[in-house]
This record gives sequence, structure tokens and C-alpha cells, in this order.
Amino acid sequence: MIDYQSILDEIYLEALNSSYKGEVASYIPELATIDVSNFGVYLKQLNGNSYSIGDWDKPFSIQSISKVLTLSKALQLIDCNIWDRVDVEPSGNPFNFLSLLEQENGIPRNPLINSGAIVVADILVSKLENPKEDFINYIRDLANDQTIDYNYKVAASEKEKGFKNYAIANLLKSYGNLKNPVEDVLDFYFHQCSIELNCEQITKVFYLFSNKGKCIQEIKRLTLSQVKRVNAIMLTCGFYDEAGEFAFTVGLPGKSGVGGGIVALLPNNFVIATWSPGLNEKGNSLIGMKALEQFTTKTGESIF
Ligand code: GLN
Repeated sequence: MIDYQSILDEIYLEALNSSYKGEVASYIPELATIDVSNFGVYLKQLNGNSYSIGDWDKPFSIQSISKVLTLSKALQLIDCNIWDRVDVEPSGNPFNFLSLLEQENGIPRNPLINSGAIVVADILVSKLENPKEDFINYIRDLANDQTIDYNYKVAASEKEKGFKNYAIANLLKSYGNLKNPVEDVLDFYFHQCSIELNCEQITKVFYLFSNKGKCIQEIKRLTLSQVKRVNAIMLTCGFYDEAGEFAFTVGLPGKSGVGGGIVALLPNNFVIATWSPGLNEKGNSLIGMKALEQFTTKTGESIF
């Protein structure tokens, strides 16, 4: 029997004792003020058990973690037709890299870098009747939690400084890979990134990716093949130019965000979320990555 709580306790102590915890994302002014010493973990197993430690119940900005959720909603709405407009290859480049998009004629490498996520946002703006309202309701539904919401201050703060995302959206538009006005698509994108969740809520929202497409209430939301695709993309593209490192050290499909959150999962087994707002130079949570490496090493539980 694995003693999960003791393992989380050990990970917590090690995190507290690390002298360097990375740097909070300062390019989104509202995120620059978050205390770098926050650290929480929540583990939700499919057998009904859960374990937690530290600041697991404090909400934070999920940022790029939202890209997996918009992708899953787009799959529900138009399924395979997404792949004419976005590829599924790792980019090996930072999340907000521009040059590759020009070299590849406006087709983003994958849906988890900014350019790909902006195309997915465009699909949702086209297909949803009230995009922001319908999308937040989708997230609330997945977690069975009506309290989940956008953080409008964070969205406005990113919009004010979102020059690179404007550049990406304009480049996509010039290649004809954005159907709606740049302003509308980015407004949706900045809001999806601003959604606030705590570690427990993240494990609930992501439950379906571990549970063969059935959400926390055991209602089928995605097909088996859609779940396979989302998990494969998380494994190969979820950490940008550190996706190889995450697969190598942690060995689970997962996704990070510049708010310092990471979610990872073992199909048919568990979902785990960590939060530590200090980032490494690739924009992934420094302590979160270490904690997950420790977790899969100590439990021996990874997809490999
Ligand atoms: N909102 C952020 C951006 O577009 C998301 C990036 C991230 O979390 N890696 O820059």
C-alpha cells in the first residue's frame, strides 16, 4: 500500500526548504503581486480517495491550463475539423513564439501554444452562442461547481500588456486562420486564461481526461478517442520547450500555466494539481515540476 499522504508531506517539506522558488510572471501586472511562497498539492484518485497539502484551497489564475479545456470544448463542437487549422506537433519553442507561425503559413504547431490556443478560441467564438458565458458554464459543469468564475481584473491586466498575443492574432488573421475580429478573439482568450481555480477544483475539472471522458458526475462528455487525443497533446506539447523534460522526469500527460499551476494525470487512476507561482526560465512552475517528479518517483506511478 502506498502512503500517499506521507509522500505529499515529504514533498511539502522539501518545497518549503527550497531557497530559490523561481520568479512570478511579471508580464501580466496582476500576477506580479502573488506571493511566491504559496505552495499546494491536491491528489484526486478515481477510487474516491483524495489527499492534499499546503495552499491547495487558494484560488489562482489557471492561465494556459485553460487551453486544454477550450480544446476539449472545440472537440465536442466540431471534432476532427479542428486539425485543418492547427497541427499536433510539439513546437520546441516558447509558448508565445512568433516566427514559426510565419514559416508555417499561419498554421500553429499545436493547440497548447498561444497561437494554437488563439485559433481554438476563434472556433469557440464562432460556435458558441454566448462564448464567455457558455464556456464558463462548461467548466462549472465539469467540476459540478457553480462558484467558478473569470477574474475580470486579471483579464483586463493581460489585455493592457498583451502585445505579443495581439501580434500572434494579427499574423493568424493575415493568413486567414482567424475568422472573427482580433479584438473579439483576444477578449475571449484573455478571459479563459483568467479563470480562477484552486488545486482541488482543477482536479475535478480535469477528472474526465483520466476517467475515459466521464466527468466528476459520471456523465460522458468526450469520446474515448477525443480523450486519447487530448492526453497525447498534453504529453507532447503541454510544457512548450520543456515538454520533453516533463515527460522524462514526471512521465504523465499534463499542462502548466504562468499562474504557477500544473495539472497532470494518470489515465484510469488519478488527477493531481500543484500550485507554486514561481516560474523557471521556460515559464513552468519550478517547484511544481520538482514536486511532480518527486511524486511519480516515490509512488512509482507514471504512464511508463
Ligand atoms: N495568458 C498567458 C499568455 O497568453 C498564458 C501563457 C501561459 O500560461 N503559458 O501569455
